[in-house]
Amino acid sequence: MFTVKKLAVSTLLTGSLLFYPALHAVAETPQHVVKQQAGGYTVQVGDIMVTSFTDGSVAQDLHKLLRRTTAQNTDALLAKNLQTNPVEASINAFYIALPGHKILVDTGSGQLFGPGNGGRLIDSLATQGIHPQDITDILLTHAHSDHAGGLVKDGQRVFTNARVFVGKPDIDFFFNEENQKKTGYDQNYFDVAHKTLKPYLDAGKVMPFSGTSELLPGITGTVHPGHTPGSAFYTLESKGEKITFVGDIIHVAAVQFPQPNVTITYDEDQDGAASVRNQAFADFAKNRDLIAAPHLAFPGIGYVTRGERGGYLWVPVTYTNRDAK
Ligand SMILES: [Zn+2]
Repeated sequence: MFTVKKLAVSTLLTGSLLFYPALHAVAETPQHVVKQQAGGYTVQVGDIMVTSFTDGSVAQDLHKLLRRTTAQNTDALLAKNLQTNPVEASINAFYIALPGHKILVDTGSGQLFGPGNGGRLIDSLATQGIHPQDITDILLTHAHSDHAGGLVKDGQRVFTNARVFVGKPDIDFFFNEENQKKTGYDQNYFDVAHKTLKPYLDAGKVMPFSGTSELLPGITGTVHPGHTPGSAFYTLESKGEKITFVGDIIHVAAVQFPQPNVTITYDEDQDGAASVRNQAFADFAKNRDLIAAPHLAFPGIGYVTRGERGGYLWVPVTYTNRDAK
């Protein structure tokens, strides 16, 4: 999730600057901002090709967003990575070419961040001849704007032939207004879930699941409540290899790998989010699991290893670009 926490609902509901996140969150980024070619990066998992497609990137003011840290601590961790606040965060979505299924894991931010910020997924897919109507299944890691935003354009379904799998607790939580009052979680999150998922619910295209379920051949979904109540991991297995799509268990590599207890304002359950992150990193490091993360630097695919003092390190997947033997 990327947004500014406090934003008038009237702004959300009117005009094209719906949920104008980054530009309210930060004044400017210190580094040069360059628009890249739309595109993807592919890895092979067993027999299956998995491609990370860029939806764009957004600037994030960590002094406003991170919790359970201080600005001084955050800046010191950024400095070790030659970064300064604000940082730039990728928005990645992932495409799985399964026999008989063309699958997207998340859909980027669509129109929700306004012109120039995110919303490039459709162009990226097109570079490899993939069109929205080709997609048969969408695995939503959770119902936040930069994952579900691409589901709709001008209120209409973009992926007209797709079913949408989503953790049932996200539907239960975001479609009951009482939960906003009960938890104080920003109203914007509820509005976004309605805006993006309701057209698919009305069309009978939403497939909510609970616990751990095999959703498609070789693909299992598991709900890990924390970042949102229905946040889910999806694991694809093929020929003894696997990749896990982890959703928003990690937003800021330079801070949350070394200090996984640092949380972000977008986490609905701060304790739960920290706990899921710690457990997942420990498992991924132990098992040397390949993971795919929406907000790590594109393509967001790589490994987690043990670092110092209970922390972890991120090892991006090795870049390859030549003819296979
Ligand atoms: Zn999120």
